[in-house]
Formats: sequence, structure tokens, C-alpha cells
Amino acid sequence: MSKLYFNYGTVASSKTLNLLAVYKNYELQGRNAILIRPQMDTRSDKVESRAGLSAEPDITLGSKDDILLKIKDYMITKIYNDHNKLEVKSLEELQKEFNKVAEAVIVDESQFLSVEQIKDLRSLSATGIFIQFPIDNAHLPKDSALINKENPINFVILHLCLPVMCYGLRTNSDGVLWDAAAILMAQADEINEIKTICSYCNHRAVFSAINPERACNNSEGIVNPSWGLYIPVCPKHFAEIHAKQTKKQH
Ligand SMILES: [Zn+2]
Repeated sequence: MSKLYFNYGTVASSKTLNLLAVYKNYELQGRNAILIRPQMDTRSDKVESRAGLSAEPDITLGSKDDILLKIKDYMITKIYNDHNKLEVKSLEELQKEFNKVAEAVIVDESQFLSVEQIKDLRSLSATGIFIQFPIDNAHLPKDSALINKENPINFVILHLCLPVMCYGLRTNSDGVLWDAAAILMAQADEINEIKTICSYCNHRAVFSAINPERACNNSEGIVNPSWGLYIPVCPKHFAEIHAKQTKKQH
């Protein structure tokens, strides 16, 4: 059994910087992790932190994609791309090689995943999944027990159980849990808050609010032009901003 982690924070709380530090650490140790980025995050094709660190995602995930199928396809493709010859003679040896292809799954902007996708990641980390792995005889040593003389391509069943680390927002700009965050809060083994401070005071930021200066398109009296469309705020400032913004709509 492996763990499912939910590391949440407001906007501008260095979530992606934390994620990239973990991902790069796997690389530095010569180990592999699968980096997943949802397609809905349209800022860039890369996983990028505000501090400038970045990485190419291994899987770009659509909201309707079967996440487990994507992970299976990625791993099978990678094992064949990385090995001209699979030097394995038994199922146990193949399973070991397969386990080296990825030792963890890391998800950026996890609030954009569907509830189904989060539940699938829960299964991947709790019980693991079974993968029908295609064996191409041409890639095996001649004395491998995995060679099937009847069929040049046959299948074996491998087991995959990986820790999953999700990084994302907990609540939307109305202060309501994202669906993906709700299921993560309910089912993750470990929940960690990545902390930052309010844009207006020194209290801990708990919410991501729509920047009122951007929202009303008012260029006068802008406090901080480097603020984005969303800003981290404490409960008091969130309540003040949200009350003004919802009143405007009536
Ligand atoms: Zn505040």
C-alpha cells in the first residue's frame, strides 16, 4: 500500500515550487516520477513556478481522460523506449524493471481533476492496479521464460502501486471546496497546508479571492501591480472582498 497526499494552498503560495522541488529530487537521485498536469491550466504547456523553476509534464490530462489508462500507456511506452533489449528472464525480473520506470505520481493543479480521476488515483495508491503488459519476443533474451513461441506478441499481468502527491487549491474564489479538493480532503492519507500570508495584512491566507482591483478594472490606486487576477487573503479580507463583489452582481 502507498499513500495519497494532498498538499494544498492558496494562489501564490509556492505550491508548484514545492512540487517541482520534489520532482527534481527524484531526478537528482536517478529515480523516476510521473508528472501530470491538467489541460485546463492554460497558462503554459509546462509546469512552471512563479520563481522560475519549470519542468515538462509527462502526461497532459484532459478532464474526461482515463487517468489510469494514461499512466499505463506512459509506462509501457517508456519501458520500450528506454530499453532496446529487455534483459529479463522471468516475470519477477520484468516486474522489477517496471517498478523502476516510475516510483511516484505527482499532480499539479489537482483542483482541475474530476472526482473520478481522483478516485482512480486513490485506487492506484491504496490497492494498486493490474496492467496488461504487452511482451514483444524480439525484445527478450532468447532463453527468457517470458517468450511465447506461439505468439510473437503476448501479454503478462503486472501490478502497479504508487504513492500519489497532489498539489492544488482547496477552495475556489467563492470560498467553496473544489470537487477534486473535497474528495482529496476526504480520502488522502496525508493533508498538508502550504502556507502564505494575506495580501493586505500579516495573517495567514486561507482563501484565493478575485483581485478587486482587476475585477473592477479600476487603474486608480492600485496597491500592487504585480498581483495577479487572484490573490491570497485571510478570512477577514476574503469576507470584505467577497461581500463587495457579490453585492455588485445584484
Ligand atoms: Zn488579511
